[in-house]
Amino acid sequence: MNLEKFITNVPDFPLPGIQFKDITPLIGDGEAYRYAINELADFAKKQAADLVVGPDARGFIFGSPVSYALGVGFIPVRKPGKLPRATIQYDYDLEYGKNTLAMHKDAIKPGQKVVIIDDLLATGGTMEATIKLIEAAGGIVVGLGFLIELVELKGRERLKGFPVKVLIKY
Ligand code: AMP
Repeated sequence: MNLEKFITNVPDFPLPGIQFKDITPLIGDGEAYRYAINELADFAKKQAADLVVGPDARGFIFGSPVSYALGVGFIPVRKPGKLPRATIQYDYDLEYGKNTLAMHKDAIKPGQKVVIIDDLLATGGTMEATIKLIEAAGGIVVGLGFLIELVELKGRERLKGFPVKVLIKY
């Protein structure tokens, strides 16, 4: 299936110069959404994931149906202040400013194999931070799955050594 036709490019959103990839037409189409999830789920299954982790917020839209398809748990990685119990946090730099991601401290048992799913790989900063959280909890990252990769931004260079699955490349 040609998934690319379900992605709308929105120039200058949310800031001038950004080409925003809008995934809402894809998730609004039942067949396209199911196809994308099945592809990512096949990858997560091959990697023998015990858990799926998804970063706030579009990682939830793609990660949780993958975990459902495999019959494994889903762990949300969230912006700080959203999770109710003890968390571990990781601070990282964005192009402008800083960001923090948090995960429940007891979400992952040491040795569990984790696949991370997100909508889009840009600079790789979000994914790198998510990997650090999982490794700090004792989890083993066995794969990274994305709907979209913005190849020019070279996010993969920060993710060397991890198996990566991408459905649409720009
Ligand atoms: P990064 O940490 O730079 O790899 O950015 C990844 C996150 O930012 C993804 O989870 C996306 O949701 C979002 N993002 C970054 N660039 C774009 C873009 N051009 N269009 C849509 N979302 C983006």
